[in-house]
Amino acid sequence: MQKRILVVDDDDMNLARTQIILENEYEVVLAESGVRALNILKNQKIDLVLLDIDMPLMNGIETFEHMKEFAADIPVIFLTASGEVEDVVGALLLGAVDYLKKPYPPQELLKRVAQEFEKK
Ligand SMILES: [Mg+2]
Repeated sequence: MQKRILVVDDDDMNLARTQIILENEYEVVLAESGVRALNILKNQKIDLVLLDIDMPLMNGIETFEHMKEFAADIPVIFLTASGEVEDVVGALLLGAVDYLKKPYPPQELLKRVAQEFEKK
């Protein structure tokens, strides 16, 4: 069974770019908002979440907090732009597993995702 990864980002370009990097090895589901991501998580089996921090309405940290109420066992890698390091530290304390700084090189993304699945 291919692992299914949910990519959450309000930036269409980043969603498209991340999908292209991942789609040879994984099933990829895209969400353009935290609300949409939570809906998907309630209705589909997801193995890993890549979660943008800076999003309007519901940011990545808030999305992550909601996620923990019903999907606490799904690993999350945060996607951050520079200048969000404090947010990331907070997220890691809440139990997120890792973070990647944008723009991430394709091989770095693939490596981190693979590492996450190896832990299981
Ligand atoms: Mg964003």
